[in-house]
Amino acid sequence: MKLLDGRTVSQRIKDELKKEVAGLGQKPGLAVIIVGDDSASKVYVRNKKKACEEIGFYSRVYELPAETSEEDLLALVQTLNQEDIINGILVQLPLPSHINEEKILMAIDHIKDVDAFHPVNVGKIMIGNYDFLPCTPAGVMELIRESGIEVAGKECVVVGRSNIVGKPQAMLLLHANGAVTICHSKTKNLAQHTKRADILVASVGIRNFITADMVKEGAVVIDVGMNRNEEGKLCGDVDFENVSKIAGAITPVPGGVGLMTIAMLMKNTLKAAQLQSK
Ligand code: NAP
Repeated sequence: MKLLDGRTVSQRIKDELKKEVAGLGQKPGLAVIIVGDDSASKVYVRNKKKACEEIGFYSRVYELPAETSEEDLLALVQTLNQEDIINGILVQLPLPSHINEEKILMAIDHIKDVDAFHPVNVGKIMIGNYDFLPCTPAGVMELIRESGIEVAGKECVVVGRSNIVGKPQAMLLLHANGAVTICHSKTKNLAQHTKRADILVASVGIRNFITADMVKEGAVVIDVGMNRNEEGKLCGDVDFENVSKIAGAITPVPGGVGLMTIAMLMKNTLKAAQLQSK
């Protein structure tokens, strides 16, 4: 079994970005907005800020109280859209329920949309002619590529169909010429699908959801899930202990897709800076 090591691959990507940034006139700038006190979101935001510092990007974090109005958040996004020093804008999800997420994501200038959640960028991904790719699915593809795994012609099964992970993940696997199946909570006989997979991506959000009896011997298993166990320890959607005994390759959690996601965010921020300097 091969461990797909997100730590090494993401570090290599960040080191390359660091070199590229050193040759630029102006540092790429990323603004991250977080609304409320969600502890997991706070950790993600802190890690994004740390990555910016490591690579030499300019970063600014807005920590707004949970009662921030939609109007005020929209006004902040509009201000950041106009600021030249800010090349990328990221609004950490989820937002409090009184704020319409779609409205906020739509307000981000699509050329600064480093999460690639704006409908313009989503549409561009669909037709395969894009500026930005969503960070998590892009990180998965990079990890697969770096590990020398061929996607073309393979049975790829994605469990989960969210707009930020499952759907774009399926699209990227399709662009790479995989034969793609998307499963979700209404899928019948889920294990019949997952057991066919040469490449199985789990993005469900339930700990130990993918068990060994759902996986084909020798399959590549990508665990996107980020859950916490009873002790508060980070863990994925895959029963790693047992699935790793039959998988051909597998990502650990932590140390897999999560680190790739941040590296891809950095890549998108640099790309945004390059696009905006034109
Ligand atoms: P989400 O929006 O909650 O989507 C979960 C998906 O799983 C939905 O499509 C849902 O189906 C499906 N699902 C739920 N129960 C199921 C079941 N019993 N059988 C089959 N499918 C089922 O979550 P998300 O935002 O995509 O995130 C998924 C996981 O990835 C979470 O753990 C999240 O924390 C993690 N994540 C990690 C990263 C990273 O950097 N590693 C980034 C983003 C997210 P329906 O559509 O039918 O409801």
